[in-house]
Formats: sequence, C-alpha cells, structure tokens
Amino acid sequence: MSLLQIAEPQQSSKPHSHRYALGIDLGTTRSIVAVVRSGKAAVIPATDSSDTLLPSVVYYGDPTTHTPVVGQAALIKQSEDPSNTIISAKRFMGRSHTDIKFSHPYQLSGQQDAMPTFVTKQGDISPVQVSADILKALKQRAQEALPEDSIAGAVITVPAYFDEAQRQATKDAAAAAGLNVLRLLNEPTAAAVAYGLDSQESSDSHSDAHDAKDTHSRLYLIYDLGGGTFDVSILKMTAGVFEVVATGGNSALGGDDIDRLIANWLLKQAGLDAKSISNEEKSYLAQQAKQYKQALSEQDSVRVDISITDNGHSKQWQGELTTEILAKIIEPVSRRTLDVCKQVLRDANLNSSDLDHVILVGGSTRMPLIQSLVADFFATKPLCHINPDEVVALGAAQTANQLINTDKSDNVLLLDVTPLSLGLETMGGLVEVLIPRNTPIPVSKRQIFTTYQDGQTGMVIHVVQGERETVENCRSLGRFELYGIPPMKAGFARIEVTFSIDANGQLTVSAEETTTNTKSEIAITPSYGLTDEQKEQLLMAGFEHAESDKQARSLIETKVEAEREILALNSAMTEFANLLDADKTQALQLAIEDLQQAIASDDLAVIEQQQAKLKPLSDAFAAQIMNQSIQATMAGTKTSEWS
Ligand code: ADP
Ligand code: MG
Repeated sequence: MSLLQIAEPQQSSKPHSHRYALGIDLGTTRSIVAVVRSGKAAVIPATDSSDTLLPSVVYYGDPTTHTPVVGQAALIKQSEDPSNTIISAKRFMGRSHTDIKFSHPYQLSGQQDAMPTFVTKQGDISPVQVSADILKALKQRAQEALPEDSIAGAVITVPAYFDEAQRQATKDAAAAAGLNVLRLLNEPTAAAVAYGLDSQESSDSHSDAHDAKDTHSRLYLIYDLGGGTFDVSILKMTAGVFEVVATGGNSALGGDDIDRLIANWLLKQAGLDAKSISNEEKSYLAQQAKQYKQALSEQDSVRVDISITDNGHSKQWQGELTTEILAKIIEPVSRRTLDVCKQVLRDANLNSSDLDHVILVGGSTRMPLIQSLVADFFATKPLCHINPDEVVALGAAQTANQLINTDKSDNVLLLDVTPLSLGLETMGGLVEVLIPRNTPIPVSKRQIFTTYQDGQTGMVIHVVQGERETVENCRSLGRFELYGIPPMKAGFARIEVTFSIDANGQLTVSAEETTTNTKSEIAITPSYGLTDEQKEQLLMAGFEHAESDKQARSLIETKVEAEREILALNSAMTEFANLLDADKTQALQLAIEDLQQAIASDDLAVIEQQQAKLKPLSDAFAAQIMNQSIQATMAGTKTSEWS
C-alpha cells in the first residue's frame, strides 16, 4: 500500500520574532495546553499554581457578572450548585437536543433539532460557549508564559470518533476563543507523536548492517480511556512514515462511567434507592466514588465512609472497597473497551500478536486493573511511561510546531482516517460507497454516474454515512441538485461526483456534468451529530446485516435494472415501431408485462426468469435497430442511438 505524504504550505515568520504554536487537549473532564520551546514539548502550568490540568468545568452561577469561572474554582461549585456548573460539555458538542439521552443535572433550552443551550443564572449558554471559555483560559495561560503576540495558532485534539458536526462545533469554539486552528487532530494520533513513534526506533530494530532503507513496518495500538471518551487506534509505521490503519471508540465511555458504577454500588451497600436522592447528593457520591477509585490506583483496598440524606433522614454507611470488588464493579466498562479493541483489530485485519506495542493514554489507564486487563488481552506489557494525562497535549504541541516550522520537520504528518463510510444514494435506495470507513484523510475520490431516464435534465445527489447497503439504514448528511444536464438517452450522460475530505475531516461533495461542465456542490456541516447509540448501531449494523444486506442489494439492483430495460424497450418500441410486426409487438408487450409482474413480486428468482425470457426478444429487436442504423448511415441519414 502506498503511503501518502502531506507537505505543509510554508508559513513565513518574521526573522526575529519567534512564533509559537499551541497543542491543546480539550478533554471531557480535564484540558491541557502544551508548547514546544527550544525543541522540547512541555505542558504550560497555571501562573498562580503549578496545576497543569485545567478541569473542563465552567461556573455560570453569578448573575452580577458576565465573566464565567473556569477550572478548579468552578469545580468547587459543582456539588453546591450543580445546575449552574457545566461539566463534560464536550458530550453536548455538536449534538441535538433530542440526541442527549444520558443523565445530567441541567435545564436545557432551544429547538429540538438544534444544539441545546444550558439555562444558567448567567443566561443561556451553548456547549460551544463553554468550550470557548475553557479554551480562553488555556490561551491565557499560554499568553502569560510566552512573549507577547507570539502565538501563531493551535492544534486542538478531538476523539477519533467525533463526527463532522462535533468537529465543526470544536472549531467554532476555538474561533470564539480567538484561536487560529492550525488543525484538528485525533487524540490517539497525538499520543503517538508524543511517544516519538514518528521516528524510527533503533534500539529494538532488527538492525543488520544494511537497514538504512528499513521497510519493516511496525504496528501500534493506542488505548485511550479518559473521563468521558474511549478511543482505540492502530497505527502503522514504515520507514519513519505513519499511517492510521484503523480507529474505533465510544464517545460516551470513560472514568465518569466508572465513577457512576461505584456510586451505584455505594448506594446499594447503604441500602438506598437512587430515585429518592437529589442531584446534589448524586454528584457528591460521584465525587466520593472518584476519590476511592483514585486511591485504589495506589493501594489494594480503601475505607469507605459515606453519609447521604434520604427523604430528610441522614444515612451513614461505612465499609471497605477492595480492588477485587472494584474489578467486578467496573466489569461492564472493561468489557466494552475490549469489545471496541476486538472490533478495531477486525477492521484492520490484524491479530493482537501482530502489534509491536500497545500504548496507554488517558487518566483512567492509571488504574492497575485497566493496565492488567489490557496486558492480559493483548498478551503484552503496555507502554505507559509518559504521563497519560499529558501525552495528548504534548503530541499536539509537537504537531503544531511542525505545522508552523516546516523546514525543521520532515514534511511527514500523521494521517487520520474517516470513522464511517461515505457514499451517495443510487437508484432503488442503494448506497454507493465512495470513501470507505478507515480511509486515510485528506482524500478525494471520484466516480462517474449517469442518468436513469431518457431526457433527464436534473439529478439529486444524496450524501449518506454508514455501513449498510441501503439508504434507509444509513444516516443522511445532506442533498443537493444538479440541473442543466443536456437531455440524452438514459445512461448517456456522464456525471462526475467528487467526495473530498480535508485534513480536518470536512467533507465537500461536488457533481459535474462533463459534456457541459455544469457544476454543483455542497460542504457538509450537518446541524447536529450522531448519538453514541446511533454511531454504534451504524457500525455494528454493517457487520450484523452484511449477508441480508447483500441479498437485499442484489434484489434491488435487479429490479432497478429490469425497470430500466422496460423503460428503454418502451421508448425504442415507439421510436422504431416500423421495425416490428404485430406478432413481435405482442410478444414483446407480453414479456414486458410478465417482467413487470415479476418486479412487483419482489422475488429475485422470478425476476431473473422473466428477464431471461425477454432477453432473446429484445436482443433480436436491438439487432434490427442496429441493422437499420447501419443502412441509414450508409445512406447518409441519421438515426437516434439506442443500446
Ligand atoms: P478526558 O480526556 O476525558 O478529559 P483524562 O484523560 O484527563 O480524561 O482522564 C480523566 C479520568 O481519569 C477521570 O475519570 C479521572 O477520574 C481518571 N483518573 C485520573 N487519575 C486517576 C487515577 N489515579 N486512578 C484512576 N482514575 C484516574
Ligand atoms: Mg483525553
């Protein structure tokens, strides 16, 4: 497989003013900013403390001010005033109101099919605004640490699983924060850069004297379990060049879920019903759960002591939580992460024994239970020596630095892939895939389509996303119309459709009628994203239904083809009526009627049978037309074409 290389356009900078580019990990629970200085990537801490992690929390509870409180100070407000303290806003990014099915303590407002806003004491705040406020705080940290006006832009990381709407929302947030986005980068991809996997490993390479041109490939799997998202990527490195072979994940699986499972366990131990306790109590419990969980990353058991108010009565429970019990509690999360790993390995057509390294990323991989789970599953000791909280931001900073200093880089950047297949609707509601899932981006694919009916002058291009064979089972991304196709016989027009995805994952679809150069195009920025269930369904459905989809597809294709034959025959029978005697006309008409009935029966075998009956009749007719047209040509008369 040939490897694509992306050369970056030169960006000149003034000779004496050094420009810096930030790497930002905009996390669901915590965010970080890093920068490369003197050739070394480092995290930028807060100026007033040594904190490197900024809690992705914003407090909008003070109506006397327009200034939100961001980070640690906001986190403190969470248990006291949860409905005005926005946490995990990333889960709301690019989602519609109706998509949000997970529980949260907020009052939402806005149109059903649009991104919701949080109703707070400081007004209605969109998830994009919350992210912008977090990004502003990070930008401020960087501004205080770097020379004035020296920030050229930022690379912001997103989960590999983010769809177009979620990526667009992230870009909007960056723009609102006054940041120039150099690129959005998948988080696992950034982690790979931080681990230096973009330079040839020499220590363990199979180095004999002549491996200057070592073409031996290495495969790495990145397992990133954060607070709210889970990502898996497989990267292939050949001779210092990277390719993302496959990605998968779940944008609603992480440490938050572990906290909730522990909180539920605590409630059960205390003999309490989750329904009878308030949201404040729930978030207190989740905080407690998180502390116990983190303690269990250092020790084998922890004393548990909780007090909860249940219907006005204070209840107390003390006990012990051990790693053994914790392993059972978190089993649903563990299992789901391994399911994703299996899926990604399947996508890449690999076994775990093919992997050279497994890399752990994300705060939740500090849990010894997760480390041994991964070690057992892949039968190898995973890499986790770079701080799993910082690794993504560090890699983003390195990429950002490469982007603004091309002469220092080797012009090779990591490639990302499309998470779901992209295609368009063809006759009969079938999907023609132009860009299969896991295709490295940027990418541009072209395919020629044609008209279905004689004299057709317009065409609807319907763009869909998903793994199923039929449009109704995929997700509609948008549609547009192409007009001005010169009227021709069905099948003669040449319409070139191009799907292009840029380095940020933005899709543009264009259609052009090549004889007249009539062109039309859209940029796909859907108003809201997919829910996690939808994404999982789209993906899983493709595998589950592969066989039945194939059958449905061949039935639809045969029907469409049969209908096209009938249309073409009818049109020819009118145009060349002179060639047919009464018997032939009747025989053709009968065979056409039978075929029409067969189409209505939805039975593939019956349709094929009737097609076979019609074929000798229509072939004979076609031969007559050919003859006449040859004679006419020889006589210098022009006839219409028909085939
Ligand atoms: P995100 O990228 O989703 O914001 P992070 O990678 O920063 O998330 O990870 C945050 C998650 O890691 C939280 O759920 C937090 O509880 C968990 N975490 C952090 N430190 C530890 C630890 N020592 N043990 C277990 N979990 C931890
Ligand atoms: Mg993360």
